[in-house]
Amino acid sequence: MASNASELDPSASEVVLHAAEQMQAQPSIEVVDPATGQSVTSVPATTAEETDVAISRARTAFDTWRKVSPADRARLLRRFAAEVDAHIEELARLEVRNAGHTIGNARWEAGNVRDVLDYYAGAPERLTGRQIPVPGGVDVTFHEPLGVVGVIVPWNFPMPIAGWGFAPALAAGNTVVLKPAELTPLTAIRLGELARDAGLPEDVLTVLPGRGAVVGERFVSHPEVRKLCFTGSTEVGKRIMAGCAAQVKRVTLELGGKSANIVFADADLERAAASAPYAAFDNAGQDCCARTRLLVQRPVLDRFLALLEPAVRGIRVADPTLESTEMGPLISAGQRTRVASYVTEAETAFTGSCPAGDGFWFPPTVLLARSPADRHWREEIFGPVISVLPFDDEAEAVALANDTEYGLSGSIWTRDVGRALRMARAVDSGNLSVNSHSSVRYWTPFGGMKQSGLGRELGPDALHAFTDVKNVFIATDE
Ligand code: NAD
Repeated sequence: MASNASELDPSASEVVLHAAEQMQAQPSIEVVDPATGQSVTSVPATTAEETDVAISRARTAFDTWRKVSPADRARLLRRFAAEVDAHIEELARLEVRNAGHTIGNARWEAGNVRDVLDYYAGAPERLTGRQIPVPGGVDVTFHEPLGVVGVIVPWNFPMPIAGWGFAPALAAGNTVVLKPAELTPLTAIRLGELARDAGLPEDVLTVLPGRGAVVGERFVSHPEVRKLCFTGSTEVGKRIMAGCAAQVKRVTLELGGKSANIVFADADLERAAASAPYAAFDNAGQDCCARTRLLVQRPVLDRFLALLEPAVRGIRVADPTLESTEMGPLISAGQRTRVASYVTEAETAFTGSCPAGDGFWFPPTVLLARSPADRHWREEIFGPVISVLPFDDEAEAVALANDTEYGLSGSIWTRDVGRALRMARAVDSGNLSVNSHSSVRYWTPFGGMKQSGLGRELGPDALHAFTDVKNVFIATDE
C-alpha cells in the first residue's frame, strides 16, 4: 500500500499520492516489486462507469484537438517529449520497481517514449492527402483523425508500448484513452501527468489503470472508441477482435511470438553465440520478439552449444537496480510457476544462476527439444528459456521456422548473402534480422504475421492507421 511511499524516490511518491487521492472508496489494484515480492503501492481500479465518463470527455476533447493547428500539435508533442526526457531517470526507477526491469533497460525504454514522441511530432505538418486527376472536376483526399483511440498495454514493456500507441494517435489528431496492465500501471500514470505538464489539453490523453475485463472490455464495446490498439496475448487479442467486429471498430493487434533464431554452419558462430542469450533472455525472456527457438545446423550444433554455455552461465541475474545487472526477475509468482512447468517436463542442456531470495527469480535455461512437437518448442513460454533443435539444410530450417501459428520476429545467421535473402523472404515473420537480433527501430514498421498480430506499429505507415482517408470531388464543369 501507499504506506511505503517513502521507500520510493520522491517523484515516484508523487505518483503514489496522486493515485491515493483518486482512490477514495474505489477498489484498488496492488502493485508488487517483482524483485522482492513486496507490495509497493496500490492504484485505483477504474470502474466501468468511470471509463464511460473518461471516453465521453475524450470524445468532447477530440472536437478541439482535431482543430489544433498541425504546427501547434507538433509543438505540444515535442514539449511532451521534452518532459519525458527531463524525467528519464525517475521513469526508469519507477519501472525497475514495478516491472523488475534492469535499470539500463528501463532507461532505454523511457528514452524510447521520448524518441517516438519526437519522431511523430514531425508528422502533423507532413500528413498530406493527394490531388487526383479526374475528369469534370478536382479530386482531393484528406487523412481524417478517427476520434477516440483506446490503447491497451501489456505488462512486459509498459512504457514503449504505451508510446507506440499514443504518439502516432495524438499526432494524427485523435484523443487517447490508455489502459496499462494490472501488474504495471505506475509509469503509464506518470506519463499521463507529464503530458498534462507539457500542456496537452485536458482529456486528450487519459490514463485509466484498471482491469482488462472492466476498462479494456469497455474500450471494446463503447461506440465512441473508434479504434483499439491492443498489445497482449493472442487469446485476448482474438476476443478483442471479435468484440470490435460488432461495430466495425478499427483494430491493431500486437500479439504473441515464438520466434526462430536460425544459425547456419557458415555463420560467425562466436558472434551468434555471444548475442543469442540477449535475443532470448532480455527482459527475462518476457519479450514477444524473443528468439526462443534456436535452430542450429547439425554439423556445428555441439560447437555452438559449447560457445553458448559460458555466455548463458555468465549472465548476471541480480537486483535490477544495480548497474551491473543483466537480467532481473520475472513479473510475478504466477509467471514463474508457468515457466517452471515447461522446464520440468523437458531435458535441460544447461542453466545460469539466479538469486535465491524473495522475488520471482528464474535462471536462464537452455532446453534440448526432442522433436518440434514438444510443448516447450511450440508454446510461448514468456520466460528465460531457449529450446534447441538441429536442422540439416535450408529447406528444413524454413519448414521448422514456419511450423508455428506465430510470426513476429526472428534472426538468420549466415555469411552467404544470397542465403540470407532467400531465408528472409521464406520465413513467415513480420520482423527479421540478419546477423543481428535487433527487432524494434521506431523508424520502421513493427508487427506480426499469422496469429502474431494484425497491422503495423511505428514508422511512417503507422500514422495512417490512425486516420481514415476521405475523398472529396469538386465539380468544375459549368
Ligand atoms: P494479456 O493479453 O493478458 O493482457 C494485455 C492487456 O489486455 C492488459 O492490459 C489486460 O488488462 C488487458 N485485457 C485482458 N483481458 C482483456 C479483455 N477481455 N478485454 C480487454 N482488455 C483485456 O497479456 P499480458 O500477459 O499482459 O502480456 C503478455 C503477452 O503480450 C504475451 O503473449 C506477449 O507476447 C504479448 N506481447 C506482444 C507484443 C507485440 O508487439 N506483438 C509486445 C508485448 C507483449
